[in-house]
Amino acid sequence: MKTRHRICSVLSLLLLAAPALAQNVKITPLGTHPGEMCARDRAMIFEDPTGVRILYDAGQSVLGADDPRLGAVHVVLLSHAHTDHIGDQKLAALNAGTCASPELVSALPNSTTAEIAAAKNASLIMIRNMAFFLGRKIENIRGKPTGNCAEPGGAIAAVQAAPCLAPVELGGSKIVKAAGASAGVEIVTVYAAHDSTLTRDLLTDAQKKSLEADNISVSLGAPSGYILKFTNGLRVYLSGDTGLHSEMRTVVREFYKANLAVLNMGQNAILPDAAAYAMNELVRPAAVIVSHPNEGATAGGVARAGTRTRAFMDQVKGRPVYLSLSGRTMEFDGSAVCAAGCN
Ligand SMILES: [Zn+2]
Ligand SMILES: [Zn+2]
Repeated sequence: MKTRHRICSVLSLLLLAAPALAQNVKITPLGTHPGEMCARDRAMIFEDPTGVRILYDAGQSVLGADDPRLGAVHVVLLSHAHTDHIGDQKLAALNAGTCASPELVSALPNSTTAEIAAAKNASLIMIRNMAFFLGRKIENIRGKPTGNCAEPGGAIAAVQAAPCLAPVELGGSKIVKAAGASAGVEIVTVYAAHDSTLTRDLLTDAQKKSLEADNISVSLGAPSGYILKFTNGLRVYLSGDTGLHSEMRTVVREFYKANLAVLNMGQNAILPDAAAYAMNELVRPAAVIVSHPNEGATAGGVARAGTRTRAFMDQVKGRPVYLSLSGRTMEFDGSAVCAAGCN
C-alpha cells in the first residue's frame, strides 16, 4: 500500500511537471537589432510543442535563407505582397545601420520569402495568387516546378522533401502535423482591411515594362491575417497590416476565440488609438504582442517615450502588451499566459 501510494505521488508529480515544460508555444521575433524592436522588424518564428516551426512574414529584417536564426522552417506564411513583408530587400548584417533606419541590401530577383521557402523545403500557406507567384520564384531558384503540398489524412506533413504550395482563399484552412504527433497546428486565413500590390521590381522585365507607363502594378489577391490554432490550445491572431474592421469582433473573437493577438502597427493602416480600441473592445485577447513598428521603438529593450508603440501600449487596458524584441523567445501556454521570456 505504502509503495503504491509513493508511486502514485511520483506519477502525479511527473504529470504536473511535464506539461509545464513541454506545452508552451515559443515565439521568437527576428528583427534587425538584437534585443530591440526596430523600424523594419517583421519576421517571427512560432514553434508548436510538437515541433512544427512556422515563419510569419519573412520581410526585410532577416539575412536571407542562410540566416542562422531561422533554424528549421516547416511553414512559410505571408500576409500580403507588400515589399516589407515579401522581402524585396534583406538585412546587410545584424545590427547594421540604426534601429530607425537599418542597412538593407537587395533580395532581388527572388525575395526573402522565396529564398527561405526554397532553402527550407517549406509549405507555403497563403492566398492563392501569392502562393503561385512565389512558387514560380522558387522554381527559378531550384530549376524544378513547385508542386502542391500533399495532405494525406487531411494534414500536411511538417517535414517535406521539397518546397510546396498550399494555396487558400480567405477563410481557408490547412493543418500541419509533425511526424508521430497526435494533433497538428491549424492555420486559417482571415480578413485584413489592406492591400496586396506587388512592387514592379519583383516582376519579369516584360511585365515591368508594360506596367511602368501607367505607374501601377499587379495585385496578388486579398491581403490577409491568420489564426494559428496550436496543439496546446493557444489561439493566435496575426492581424497582418490592417485598419480597424468589425470581423475583429465577430470572426476573430467570437468565432475563433483568439487569446493572443500579434498586432501590426503602422501609420498607413492603424494608429495607436485605433489599435488599442481593436485590442480593448474588438479582439479582447488575454495578451498582445506589438509588431511592425515603422519606427525605432525601443532603446535598451524598453519602449521609448514619444513613440507610437508607447502610445499604443499606454492605451491598452486589462491585458499585458509585450514588445517583439529581436531574438528574444517568449513562451505561452494554452491560455496565452506568458511562461517565459516576456518583458
Ligand atoms: Zn502592407
Ligand atoms: Zn507592412
